Amino acid sequence: MLTELRAGPNTIRGVSVGGVYTSLAVPELGVLFDVGMPARSLATLDYWLLSHGHSDHVGALAAQLGIRALHGKTNAPRVYMPAEIVDDLAAALAALSKLQRWPLTIEAVGMHAGDELPLRGDLHVRAVQTFHPVPSLGYVLVRKVSKLKSEYRGLPGAEIAALRRAGEPVSQIDERLELGYATDTLISVLDHAPDLLRCGTLILESTFLDSRKARAAARAGCHIHLDEIIERADAFLQPELSHLVLMHFSQLYHPHEIDGLLRARLPAALYQKTLAFVDPSRPWPG
Ligand SMILES: [Zn+2]
Ligand SMILES: [Zn+2]
Repeated sequence: MLTELRAGPNTIRGVSVGGVYTSLAVPELGVLFDVGMPARSLATLDYWLLSHGHSDHVGALAAQLGIRALHGKTNAPRVYMPAEIVDDLAAALAALSKLQRWPLTIEAVGMHAGDELPLRGDLHVRAVQTFHPVPSLGYVLVRKVSKLKSEYRGLPGAEIAALRRAGEPVSQIDERLELGYATDTLISVLDHAPDLLRCGTLILESTFLDSRKARAAARAGCHIHLDEIIERADAFLQPELSHLVLMHFSQLYHPHEIDGLLRARLPAALYQKTLAFVDPSRPWPG
């Protein structure tokens, strides 16, 4: 039932149907983006990042927590989300805990656009502003690696250690933008958070793909239309961006026609780095 694709060093596994459910895991990074559908194999990930409070993105939270407990995971997942929804989500989980006489526990972390917090190991999460009718965020996962400054490379270890002891800043932090995630948003997210276009992989919604939905109607619902991606095609051609993963497709389209639509409509150079998060051989999951 889950779809899986490979984008550079990362696997993207889950389900995404616009307005229905979106849950996307990146196991190599240990993260789950949104929890719109409960899935057995996604329950043990410890870091969940919620884009916003619409039910197709958070509606399966309680079920996913239940599956997690069934798998013997006793620690609460750390759940990053827009700060404005922390209290509402806590109230919803409290009501569901009461309903089933069993505690549904998360470690909630509220974020504002521009905030950056440690995630796991050398991985950090940066929140970016998305544009939807409710409080919403996108995320950039940044790997920060301490590296010896170039002028000290080649020096013997003892000398470097002595410099360090003397308080010399011999190392610098290198940042690599591993992965960006932006869904349920107007395309202007890219103007406000151009870092998304410098990620190795960008997971981006493209809910509507052709004239079956007019661009104005897509914008009215605060979603991206493929026309708008085509208009900005050059912006996606930056060399740092190796993979553009499009997702959150509307059920207006059948899974088997999506790749053909992208091939026909996207400029060749952009199509080459674009992956559609859909299994063309099956109907929409569920
Ligand atoms: Zn959605
Ligand atoms: Zn939404």
